[in-house]
Amino acid sequence: MSTRTTNTTDVLVIGGGTGGYSTALRAAALGLDVVLVERDKVGGTCLHRGCIPSKAMLHAAELVDGIAEARERWGVKATLDSVDWAALVATRDDIVARNHKGVEAHLAHAGVRVVRGSARLTGTRTVRVEGVPTDSTPGAPSMPAPGAQHEIAPGVHDFTARRGIVLATGSRPRTLPGFAPDGRRVVTSDDALFAPGLPASVLVLGGGAIGVEYASFHRSMGAEVTLVEAADRIVPLEDPDVSRHLTRGLKKRGIDVQAGARLLDAEVRENGVRARVRTARGETRAVEAERLLVAVGRVPVTEGLGLEAAGLTTDERGFVVPADWGRLETAVPGIHAVGDLLPPPSPGLAHASFAEGLLVAETLAGLASAPVDYGAVPRVTYSSPQTASVGLSETEARARGSEVEVNTMPLTAVAKGMVHGQGGMVKVVAEAGGGQVLGVHLVGPHVSEMIAESQLIVGWDAEPADVARHVHAHPTLSEAVGEVFLTLAGRGLHQQ
Ligand SMILES: Cc1cc2nc3c(=O)[nH]c(=O)nc-3n(C[C@H](O)[C@H](O)[C@H](O)COP(=O)(O)OP(=O)(O)OC[C@H]3O[C@@H](n4cnc5c(N)ncnc54)[C@H](O)[C@@H]3O)c2cc1C
Repeated sequence: MSTRTTNTTDVLVIGGGTGGYSTALRAAALGLDVVLVERDKVGGTCLHRGCIPSKAMLHAAELVDGIAEARERWGVKATLDSVDWAALVATRDDIVARNHKGVEAHLAHAGVRVVRGSARLTGTRTVRVEGVPTDSTPGAPSMPAPGAQHEIAPGVHDFTARRGIVLATGSRPRTLPGFAPDGRRVVTSDDALFAPGLPASVLVLGGGAIGVEYASFHRSMGAEVTLVEAADRIVPLEDPDVSRHLTRGLKKRGIDVQAGARLLDAEVRENGVRARVRTARGETRAVEAERLLVAVGRVPVTEGLGLEAAGLTTDERGFVVPADWGRLETAVPGIHAVGDLLPPPSPGLAHASFAEGLLVAETLAGLASAPVDYGAVPRVTYSSPQTASVGLSETEARARGSEVEVNTMPLTAVAKGMVHGQGGMVKVVAEAGGGQVLGVHLVGPHVSEMIAESQLIVGWDAEPADVARHVHAHPTLSEAVGEVFLTLAGRGLHQQ
């Protein structure tokens, strides 16, 4: 039986990923009546297909790498027997499932009404939701009470949002003509999670964070890996020294890194793909691999969202561009956007979408919160070695015309760096003459955890002398960060 209902709320959020659910939680905490519409699972890309499953897999990869290090460096007579992919997937999926339950519980506790369905705008304050039919829908209420979950009866449900509507529909993998994913031989990062097993060889197209992480993971798991990036260096948005150190680290691990290269074509065969790569030197090389993983970026999801009904458009890349970045409000007052729907400087990262969600919720509740400080949002690649950075690269800082001072130190210059034995570096970019710290760039083990102090340094507009007053624990990898700042402040200890 199909139903048609009309409902009113303060705030309606479309999309239950990190951007949408953080908006909903904060808005509810501020006393607003909130409806969150999600057509799949709350948690979105990050929880189900992105950050969390990929980092769970990369943790397993670290353990595998640790066995080789134990044997080769520490005299531990350990050998790797095999990797049970099904067991790895089970642990990964358990972590995802527990987090999913956690997000659902937070939303329920906050009193957010989570509606399972597909939403589209029908006006500047109105949204139509088509309930996604599930087994349990026949007896489901047409509109769940606050805190109740999830299904609405199949049919059409119209909502009016008194305060505003938040667009949080996220992104999906970008595909390239000629390399259309088939889910088996030509795959996206989504498909890679649900593959039946680990491949013996992978050709990764795209040297951004996602491509590098998957290249690193598969190499740890024993695959032959070729990484092809069209730009003249991998992680091209990072400082050139980060790209250089990362390239060195990946090559040392046996990954064939081809930057400045082009994938000319890929023939799909029963057992894999046969591709031709034009290298930076202009040679054409044949690469055979069981899988081609296409990781060439992501595109915003706006199809069927009814933007036109509210008088909204996207830019030529498909992003929803805020008219007011300070409130993340579109050209239509009361309609806001968060997360991967936003163009740069929003970085397409989950933690940025959390910050955007908080800002939008507070704005809708009438608070005057500070805009998101995109310049102080950290960026991490969780490969081996890892990269982590915040603020401007040396190139960006110099392009601004300001005189800059740069100090770089290898991680192996501190004892803990030698213990880890994986190389890496710390690089700080600051205004010349002891001025503001503009950027911090790290490569090496555990730098994803080390970047936190640097985001405060950059975010609080600190100068090297401010940092140099603070003592770092010894022996730690973070000491290298402290040492670089000591030198910049004219008080170098081991680095003269
Ligand atoms: C492999 C991978 C690894 C990543 N790793 C990291 C990482 O380590 N750290 C990090 O910060 N970021 C990472 N990211 C990026 C991060 O996942 C995204 O930035 C984040 O998920 C964006 O959140 P969002 O809320 O904008 O969109 P999404 O998480 O994509 O959520 C959008 C939601 O909207 C729903 N939806 C869409 N249209 C409709 C509609 N019309 N009606 C109802 N519901 C709808 C979708 O079902 C989806 O659940 C990674 C991404 C990938 C792919």
